[in-house]
Amino acid sequence: MNYFSSDFKLGILGGGQLGKMILAETRKFDIQTYVLDSSDEAPSRFGSHAFYKGSLMDFDTVYQFGQLVDLLTIEIENVNLDALDQLEAEGLPVFPSPKTLRLIQNKGKQKDFYVANHIPTSPHQRFVDLKALRDAVTSSAVEMPFVWKSAQFGYDGNGVKIVRSTLDLINLPDVECIAEEMVPFKNELAVIVARSASGAIKTYPVVEMEFHPEANQVEYVICPARIDEKVAQKATDIALKVSEAFNHVGLLAVEMFQTADDEILVNEVAPRPHNSGHYSIEASYTSQFENHLRAILNLPLGNTDSKVAGIMVNLVGEEGFSGQVVYENIEKIMAIEGVTPHIYGKRETRPFRKMGHVTIVNEDMTEARKIAEEVKNSIRVISEMK
Ligand code: ADP
Repeated sequence: MNYFSSDFKLGILGGGQLGKMILAETRKFDIQTYVLDSSDEAPSRFGSHAFYKGSLMDFDTVYQFGQLVDLLTIEIENVNLDALDQLEAEGLPVFPSPKTLRLIQNKGKQKDFYVANHIPTSPHQRFVDLKALRDAVTSSAVEMPFVWKSAQFGYDGNGVKIVRSTLDLINLPDVECIAEEMVPFKNELAVIVARSASGAIKTYPVVEMEFHPEANQVEYVICPARIDEKVAQKATDIALKVSEAFNHVGLLAVEMFQTADDEILVNEVAPRPHNSGHYSIEASYTSQFENHLRAILNLPLGNTDSKVAGIMVNLVGEEGFSGQVVYENIEKIMAIEGVTPHIYGKRETRPFRKMGHVTIVNEDMTEARKIAEEVKNSIRVISEMK
């Protein structure tokens, strides 16, 4: 198949920042790309050959969009899967497959899948609704503390809550959920796996998330993780196993916990480019976005090694500011060597909204980490008026 400067059309469901960064690669290769997103303010509204506005959860919208393209991928998991099933049944290649997406969209099904495939994960129980969970707590079938997770539509931690007492059960939404054993982890790690339809497979180095000591927010994604080589190998092997088990085509970001005694437990996966791989644009030989394209198009996978140490800092909207965004001190951080901001193209900031990220690259990890802290302490995402 000739994808380059041809009539071939790639479709992307979702037009957020991940889509925007995929489009940088489709532009590079001159591959025609169509995008569907529900907002005409979407970061991917530019850079595609055609941008369609419509709901990703609506059968007809997704089905009709799929009919316009030769291959379909996603940059967000919450899309209408019945439409994808139908398109696939009619012969359209859809990567990742709707079957995989169905497993991943529901955290209960996803966890069951790990258990069935002998992939290490923390023990869990599934509940159809809040009452079923409460009954299980009352009868001590579930012991506190545990981690409550909404089975569907959780995002960036908003569908996750630690339940320490029955009081914590009061405000939980009445939805299908899981109760997971709490993992006293010492590190959160992630490995991005690129796997193509032919079965060719490559992994990016293990990355580590460094948390703010009090706020419990990820502050830095660090590549490579500052962990023992043996632990890194274990995490990589498990990530490969997960990708193979899903028979995955495209990128799969595997999020894991490293426990106190260096066990690796899979937390969850994302079947697409991932926040934990943004550093790769500057630090790797081949960015995660390019390798996602290579994988779904069954092209040779690019080198996933790093050229230099890479650290990523998310740019999220500062608390207390809403409206037309201003990136305070962006020029100051750009004056530092090896610092590159990525601005997603959202005009309005809101507290904690993901507005962009900054990558720091350096030959030396200690130096990179120092600069990352300077970046973090300098730049602020605020608005013109409070
Ligand atoms: P989301 O899909 O919203 O990102 P996650 O399942 O990744 O949700 O959970 C968000 C965060 O909650 C994790 O990054 C981790 O810090 C914490 N967490 C999740 N599951 C557990 C667990 N079983 N034990 C301890 N902490 C957990």
